[in-house]
Amino acid sequence: MSSLIFSADETAIARAAHLLRQGGLVAFPTETVYGLGGNATQDRAVAGIFAAKNRPSFNPLISHLPDVAAVAALVEMDPRARLLAERFWPGPLTLVLPRRAGCPVSLLASAGLDSIAVRIPAHPVALALLRAAACPVAAPSANPSGGVSPTTAAHVAQGLDGRLDMILDGGPCAVGVESTVLDLCTATATLLRPGGITREQLEALLGPIALADGHGEDGPKSPGMLASHYAPGLPVRLEAAAPRPGEALLGFGPCPGATLNLSESGDLAEAAAHLFAMLRALDRADFSAIAVAPIPRHGLGLAINDRLRRAAGPRG
Ligand code: AMP
Ligand code: MG
Repeated sequence: MSSLIFSADETAIARAAHLLRQGGLVAFPTETVYGLGGNATQDRAVAGIFAAKNRPSFNPLISHLPDVAAVAALVEMDPRARLLAERFWPGPLTLVLPRRAGCPVSLLASAGLDSIAVRIPAHPVALALLRAAACPVAAPSANPSGGVSPTTAAHVAQGLDGRLDMILDGGPCAVGVESTVLDLCTATATLLRPGGITREQLEALLGPIALADGHGEDGPKSPGMLASHYAPGLPVRLEAAAPRPGEALLGFGPCPGATLNLSESGDLAEAAAHLFAMLRALDRADFSAIAVAPIPRHGLGLAINDRLRRAAGPRG
């Protein structure tokens, strides 16, 4: 039995909430699967989630909130979102909605996008934790990338022991299927991932919805369907030793002449934490392109390189 597993009583929940506020990683039960939670407003905590899961790519994460007021503080809720919230929250439905101006959620949590995926989970332990933490909690399933989603605290410990700070044990999860992900940033709601709430249940409320079949556990499969793909407007040039005239240089490690530096000390977690915010900062009309210094291809460097390659790839 892992020493990180704590039965989810009041004391353990308070401790877990404190850890989250401090930037720690806490696995917690939801009605669908166990989530690997980190403070969604802290770039480093979000980078820690990707590192712990060993994800080879940055796909956007779901921010978990305790109530509709907390959701509405982060994203623009239109009448469709209000209707769905009233009917299905708390519950296994994730809504992708436009970020509000000044929204504190890390750009890494949304993989650079202007939208954020939000959900209120229907599990007493998850809700108590989210209320106590009082911050949005980014939480993908608490398993190493490519593994099976965990439905017990012991599963979490088997997969992620040593890579997180605490596991709140609330017993086995009831649903075991991940949440339905519905994109409401478009005029017609689009089903990005089937899950606990069925298409029929959604259509009964909204009328016909569109299907996006390019999305799976590891993000969009077809590069043409890039609803969850952020790329800067400027061309991106990789493995650049120095900027060409007119180019901005995004550095890594010691990099004289860098316009911005992902991590001067060459720390990959710091680089991941800065990636999207810095790409956005350099995406300016007074530069001709963004040149990016070489990034090592291990640990979080894999996901950073993956995202940069897509940003540099042919435009659809
Ligand atoms: P997971 O965190 O593993 O449960 O997966 C979250 C799912 O939500 C993935 O399929 C993501 O691609 C999707 N998702 C999260 N945020 C967004 C977003 N802003 N836009 C589009 N899809 C999103
Ligand atoms: Mg998963």
